[in-house]
Amino acid sequence: MLESRLMPWRTFARRFAAVVVVLALFLAGAPAVQAAPAGEQLSTNVVTTPSHPWVLVNKSRPLNPLQFVPSDLVQWNGTSHMLRRSVSGAINQLFSGARAAGHALEVVSGYRSYATQSSLYNYYVQTYGQAYADQISARPGYSEHQTGLAVDVGNVGGGCGLTACFGDTPGGRWVAANAHRYGFIIRYPQGYTHITGYTYEPWHLRYVGVQLAVDMKSRAIPTMEQFFSLRPSIRSSADVLAADSSGALWNYPANRSGGYGSRVKIGAGWTGLKSGFVADWNSDGINDIVAQWNTGRLTVYRGKGSGGFLSPIVVGSNGWQSMNITVGKWHNGHRYPGVVGTAADGSMLYYPNPGGGVLGTAQRIGSGFQGMKLTMADFDNDRRQDLLVTKSTGELLLFRSDGAARFVTEARQKVGNGWNTVAQSHASFGFQGAGTRGLTAKTTDGRLFYYSLGTNQFTGSRQVGDGWGPLSVFR
Ligand SMILES: [Zn+2]
Repeated sequence: MLESRLMPWRTFARRFAAVVVVLALFLAGAPAVQAAPAGEQLSTNVVTTPSHPWVLVNKSRPLNPLQFVPSDLVQWNGTSHMLRRSVSGAINQLFSGARAAGHALEVVSGYRSYATQSSLYNYYVQTYGQAYADQISARPGYSEHQTGLAVDVGNVGGGCGLTACFGDTPGGRWVAANAHRYGFIIRYPQGYTHITGYTYEPWHLRYVGVQLAVDMKSRAIPTMEQFFSLRPSIRSSADVLAADSSGALWNYPANRSGGYGSRVKIGAGWTGLKSGFVADWNSDGINDIVAQWNTGRLTVYRGKGSGGFLSPIVVGSNGWQSMNITVGKWHNGHRYPGVVGTAADGSMLYYPNPGGGVLGTAQRIGSGFQGMKLTMADFDNDRRQDLLVTKSTGELLLFRSDGAARFVTEARQKVGNGWNTVAQSHASFGFQGAGTRGLTAKTTDGRLFYYSLGTNQFTGSRQVGDGWGPLSVFR
């Protein structure tokens, strides 16, 4: 049995009743395979049908067929701008609503064919290079404008055309507040680049019909990706991941109030895993997985904004099976998370990740750590990652860092006992609500514990699951 040294009995007793409830709910869901909700089946159909007003097109979801042309395009108000018939009617109603409120708006861009998008994209590639072109423009077949459902709008004769400041003009503010009443959403809202793939575009309206637009507005769901649950597979830094003996990889989504929702299968072929870690390896705002394999390889699965992962990249080619590693931002001056590990000879090494891809040259940062397990966490809450080191006696020692890949010179504080029964442990963020910090720990007898962290101390611990023995658990 684990103990956190500083957990007062009163705290434990107070929490006991809640634990029983959470545990009962959790255990009911844990071992069973959960079926996808019926809504997901429905949405899969409509979001892939190119003529459907709910079709979801983004940088990882092209139109199918790639050269799709809507069958009911019409000229908007005798201009050269084309829109689908229903969209042209809806945008005229929106414009007359705006006019009644004192704002004169017009269509700046509507339907763009595959060929038009091709030349636009190629122009950007030639002018700015491909990396930047991909940030500001869609590849042909990947643009919403090809659906005939997207409309770029602007103030008549006004400034801020196709720029973010349109959102601050009176007309832009009216659009943001009222577009849903006419069946439109602002498709690329501010702060959701990591989900939509696009920076804020207050002028780019997308017709989805009044029902969906009003539903999204009233439930405050900002993007289509979120509405249709096409979100990253690992949504929160408190989710727990587990690979089972068949190689299925499961995500147990944290509900942010100290429990987990129904698990979701997010991968297959995960047999032979020594340990896994969740980190935003390439700092794109989407959680990735660092996988340490019994073959000695270290690979990274980069998460996609719409769910799933890109093909893994090998970031360490051999010898990793004998290391005990932990992953995180060990150096505050480094942009990407790296790896800290103890080698068979007892040396402790820091491997920086200089470019969000393969690891750089190791730095030796300690010795005498034979066989010791590591957990990286900001234990003292000073925004510098620390290491929790498990000795063979089960003592848990705190090695605080200076934020520059070095240890603070001080006597090592003992912060736990009995940790030799912990098979795997990882830092966790937000498990008990926004801003909460802690650790999840799986014991050798298959129980899962959550340890809440205060400043330089554990503030409590409780069991949050059982029967995890056959699973390789990480986060
Ligand atoms: Zn647009």
